[in-house]
Amino acid sequence: MLRLGIMGGTFDPIHYGHLVAAEMARTEFALNQVLFVPTGLSPHKKQRRMTDAQIRYHMVEMAIRDNPQFIISSIELERRGPSYTVDTLKELQQIYLQHELFFITGTDALREIFDWHKAEEILTLTRFIAATRPGYGAQEFLTKMALEYPQFMKKIHVLEVPALAISSTDIRSRLAKGQPIRYLLPDEVYNYIQATSPYPSYSQ
Ligand code: ATP
Ligand code: MG
Repeated sequence: MLRLGIMGGTFDPIHYGHLVAAEMARTEFALNQVLFVPTGLSPHKKQRRMTDAQIRYHMVEMAIRDNPQFIISSIELERRGPSYTVDTLKELQQIYLQHELFFITGTDALREIFDWHKAEEILTLTRFIAATRPGYGAQEFLTKMALEYPQFMKKIHVLEVPALAISSTDIRSRLAKGQPIRYLLPDEVYNYIQATSPYPSYSQ
């Protein structure tokens, strides 16, 4: 069986935290490919205005271009309504019939997994690789999980990655304040943001 990593996110914008997590997961778990899936309408992020989906998608495309094992999917952009992970996984399962699925998240996202729509079903469809993210320990979550959902423990893997305290929120707020963002994300994405200013007077 082949192994497919799935990296979902708003990628508003994509940065080195995402890329490092994806690459470490790929090598550590012998994934054949990692599929980046930019969200259309995120059910978790209704409260703020997201950058246009085409722009976020384009920035991901540019960021992964030089890695032949990184690929991108627009399935969540083509779907109407909120992007539920459970629907995405079911769709991908039909496309990647020969693959075992590994959903890659940061530990911040992992900690919220039981608030996700149909969380238990999600855990029957995929394994999880949770990349450590500064400020978001996983120990408390794992203890709770072991007590309440012992049957899912073997589906969750915490992966230590070199700590990168980079977030899209911070990048947007830096842009709003006129602070530098160079080297937090790939040069191509940096140049695109400089040239097209997709984050006009952003305020969180
Ligand atoms: P925002 O601040 O807008 O929420 P973000 O930086 O968290 O943006 P997302 O698009 O929300 O980026 O994240 C997509 C996935 O990547 C999530 O699972 C998130 O936990 C993970 N991720 C993001 N940044 C990092 C990082 N620095 N280290 C590890 N994982 C990360
Ligand atoms: Mg986030």
